[in-house]
Amino acid sequence: MRPAVAPITAGDVLQLVRDREARSRADVARLTGLSRTAVAARVDALVGARLVSETESPGIGVGRPPKRLAFEAGAGLVLAAAIGRSWAQFTVCDLAGRVLAAEELEQEVGQGPDDVLPRAVDRLRSLLLSVGRDPAEVLGIGVSIPGTVDPVAGTSLNSAIMRGWDGVPIAPYFAELSAAPVVIENDTNVIALAELDDHLARYQDALIVKASTGLGAGIVAGGVLQHGARGAAGDIGHVKYRGARDIPCRCGEVGCLEAVAGGWALVRDLVANGREVAHVRDVVTLALEGDVVARRAIRGSGQAIGEVLAAAVTLLDPAVIVVGGDMAPAYDLLVAGLRETLYRDATTIAARDLDVLAASHGADSGSRGTAILALRRVLSPRAVDDRLGLGIARPRMPQ
Ligand SMILES: [Zn+2]
Repeated sequence: MRPAVAPITAGDVLQLVRDREARSRADVARLTGLSRTAVAARVDALVGARLVSETESPGIGVGRPPKRLAFEAGAGLVLAAAIGRSWAQFTVCDLAGRVLAAEELEQEVGQGPDDVLPRAVDRLRSLLLSVGRDPAEVLGIGVSIPGTVDPVAGTSLNSAIMRGWDGVPIAPYFAELSAAPVVIENDTNVIALAELDDHLARYQDALIVKASTGLGAGIVAGGVLQHGARGAAGDIGHVKYRGARDIPCRCGEVGCLEAVAGGWALVRDLVANGREVAHVRDVVTLALEGDVVARRAIRGSGQAIGEVLAAAVTLLDPAVIVVGGDMAPAYDLLVAGLRETLYRDATTIAARDLDVLAASHGADSGSRGTAILALRRVLSPRAVDDRLGLGIARPRMPQ
């Protein structure tokens, strides 16, 4: 018979130490109800794997002071590849998510996985080298891509925009760099992960909006990121919008929200107005410099997004909307437009006290969230227990 309460494992104890709830063996015993011997077995395993250090703390008065437990963020690394439609960010992080090395790379829109992913592997390898670290230290790799993903199969799905990516397994591309697990997620949902310790520490129900070249939404309900039945939740850019009637979208349809409010549509409109822009970030720069047409375009994008979001807010009743993506530097303009239509169209009760906030980490939200994606996998109690059981994380003896 299964015990009613799952046993407390070394992985659970690591979680308590990482969360700074347990700072000593006595804390672990008090919090878990485990015996001294059981606590010792788990802490010793974690210390042996270098995931936890145990040091003398300066004592006050007489008697031996308790040893202090601390999470050892240097015990391994995670890699993150945040792949957007027109640029990608690569980072090497320690196990606390601190960035040790980072690089951004422009890329042509519409490239397939055979172009993008080998380059990602190259960049990550050279970043590792640049900080003198070894691929053997990598415990996990996070990859975020635009569009719908199947996190279980590790593939991109049904993406008319990410041509050539449909159903392609992502992990095998990284196998030549590391044997560590590869975790994939959609580029908007990782922004939600980046907010876990920030805005989402205060709000259980949230909508995350990524306003970049494309548009995406992430849904957090009851503190849980929602993927939907097919992993396709949040594809707000391709919701039909009356202001976009008959306007072709890059997904092949007409009348999508993106066709008037996506970054690529703003670029199209500004070029038609004689502005020299190639990317939505150029539109943002112009707007911040005071260009009236660019300012109107971003505000108009906000208005259109707000109109569609009003329906989502009425259905889901979130406490907060967090706005990120390449348009976020023009947050004031974008959100001024968004508030106009959102508060006009959502039901009074859902819009009451609804907060609208900028993503906490600006342009780095995607890469930060992608690293957190990998960290959540490799530091989950189950993954830690597996690693301890297999003995992979044994300390490397100095030669
Ligand atoms: Zn579309």
